[in-house]
Amino acid sequence: MTSHAIDTGWLAELLATLGPDNVITDPARLRTYECDGLTGYRVVPAAVALPRSTAEVAAAVRVCAGHGIPFVARGAGTGLSGGALPVADGIVISLQRLRRIIEVDPVNLCAVVEPGVTNLDISRAAAPYGLYYAPNPSSQQVCTIGGNVAENSGGAHCLKYGFTVNHVLEAEVVLADGTVTTLGGPAQYQPGFDLLGAFIGSEGTLGIVTRITVRLLAKPAHVETMVADFATVAGAGDAVTAIVAAGIVPAAIEMLDNLAIQAVGASTHSVYTADTAAALVVELDGPPDDVAEQFDHVQRICRAQGSTKIMVAADPAERALIWQGRKAAFAAVGRISSNYFVQDGVVPRGRLAEVLDRIGAMADTAGLRVANVFHAGDGNLHPLVLYCEADGEHDRAERLSSEIAELCVELGGSLSGEHGIGTDKACSMPRMFGEDDLATMLRLRAAFDPDGLCNPGKVFPTPRLCGERPGPYRPHPLEAAGVIERL
Ligand SMILES: Cc1cc2nc3c(=O)[nH]c(=O)nc-3n(C[C@H](O)[C@H](O)[C@H](O)COP(=O)(O)OP(=O)(O)OC[C@H]3O[C@@H](n4cnc5c(N)ncnc54)[C@H](O)[C@@H]3O)c2cc1C
Repeated sequence: MTSHAIDTGWLAELLATLGPDNVITDPARLRTYECDGLTGYRVVPAAVALPRSTAEVAAAVRVCAGHGIPFVARGAGTGLSGGALPVADGIVISLQRLRRIIEVDPVNLCAVVEPGVTNLDISRAAAPYGLYYAPNPSSQQVCTIGGNVAENSGGAHCLKYGFTVNHVLEAEVVLADGTVTTLGGPAQYQPGFDLLGAFIGSEGTLGIVTRITVRLLAKPAHVETMVADFATVAGAGDAVTAIVAAGIVPAAIEMLDNLAIQAVGASTHSVYTADTAAALVVELDGPPDDVAEQFDHVQRICRAQGSTKIMVAADPAERALIWQGRKAAFAAVGRISSNYFVQDGVVPRGRLAEVLDRIGAMADTAGLRVANVFHAGDGNLHPLVLYCEADGEHDRAERLSSEIAELCVELGGSLSGEHGIGTDKACSMPRMFGEDDLATMLRLRAAFDPDGLCNPGKVFPTPRLCGERPGPYRPHPLEAAGVIERL
C-alpha cells in the first residue's frame, strides 16, 4: 500500500484548500504536536491543519475523507490519556484558532462558543452577568471546551454540579465525511435518540465539534471552604463516605495524601500541613444559612472520623490559596519526581479507604512511590505513579498504573472518571466490557465514521496496541437475528 506520506496528492489539496499559512509541514514545528499530556507516547503527524472556521474544518476533513487520511482533533493538548496522540501519516486538526465567544445569553442562561475557547474564559465572559460555567477541570486556564466535550471532563465541583455532559445543550459537529450537522438543541429536552449525549465523551472518535452551546449557572450566594487534616488516609476516606451518607452534597470534596502535600509545599506557598497523613478540602455553597448549618455539620463529622485539625478559609484570598495548591498539585509533583503517570479510576465512595490501602501495598511491592490527589467526593482517584525514566523504571510504573486502573474495576468502579481511555487504557477496556459491549460501541462509532478515519486507535483495544490476538468472530445477537448488518 502506498504510504500517505509519500502519496502527497492529499497534502497539495490540503495546502490549496486552507492556504500554506494554515498548514504545518515543517518537521521541527510538527514535533510540537507529537503528544498530549501523556508524554510517554509520541508520534509525529504528517501535517497539522489550522482551520479558522467550521467551513475550513469541514474542508480539511473532506480532503482526508477523499484520500483515506486519518485525522485527530486537538484542543490544547492537556489530555492525560493520549487522546490527541497523532496517527503517523495522518493529520492533526488543531482547533486553537476557533476561539470566539459568540454570545453570552443571560436571559436563557447559556453561551455559544467555539471549541478552542478555554474553559476559564467562558466563566470570565459570563462573570459580568453574575453567571459562570460549572465544570472546572484543574487545567481550566488552558484546556479547551472542545477537549472538555470530547472527554466529558469533570473537575472539583462536579460532585454537586455534574460533568460536561450535564452542561452542554447543543453542538455543531463536522462528521467524518465533512458533513456539518447539529446535535441537541437550545431547549433542555430533545426528542429522539440522545446523539449529543453519545458524542460527549466519545474522545474525538465520532467527529469534530466546532460550536457549542453551554449552560451557565448563577454564582452561588455564599461559599465556605475548609481543610481538615487526618492522621491516616483511611480516616480521611471514611470521612468522605460519612459526609455524603449524612445527606450533605458539598460543592467539592478533594483529598491530598502526604506525598502530594509535600509536592505542593515544594512548589508554591502552601496552606497545607506538611506532616499530616491526608488533607480533605471541603467546600459548601448556596444560601448563607444553609451553608452555615451544613458547614458546622461537616466539621463535626470530620472530628468524629479522627480529624486532627481543621482550618477554615477566613476570606476569598485564603480560599484561593487552598485551591491554588490543589489545582497545581499535578504539576507540583514534577518537583519531587522526574517522571510520573497520572491515573484516573473510579471506585464506589464507600470503598475509598480500602482502595487507597491496596494502592499503597501495590506501590510497595513495585518499589515505587504513589501520590494521591483526587476528587474524593466522586470516588474519582488520581494516583500519580512516580518513576525515573533514566533509572529504567518506566515499564514498571506503566504496569503499576494499569493495575491500579484495573483494581478500580475489580472493586465495582470504572477505568476512567474524567480523563478518558485514549491510548493509555484501551488495552484495559476488556476488563470492564465484554466482547458484545465493545462490538455494540464499535457499531455506533461506525455509524458516525464508517471508514474509521476519525481519531483511530483510541478507546478500543486493537491487537497492534495490546499485543493481543483478535478473538474469533461471533455474530452479534442482533446481527444473527437479521436486524443489523456488520459494516
Ligand atoms: C494539570 C492538569 C490537570 C487536569 N485536571 C483535570 C480535571 O480536573 N478534570 C478533567 O476532567 N481533566 C483534567 N485534565 C485533563 C485535560 O485537561 C482534559 O481532558 C481536557 O478536557 C482536555 O482538553 P484539551 O483542550 O487539552 O484537549 P486535547 O488534549 O487537545 O484533546 C483531548 C481529546 O479531545 C479530542 N478533541 C479535542 N478537541 C476536539 C474537538 N473540537 N472536537 C472533537 N474532539 C476534540 C482530542 O482528539 C482528544 O481525543 C487535567 C490535565 C492537566 C494537564
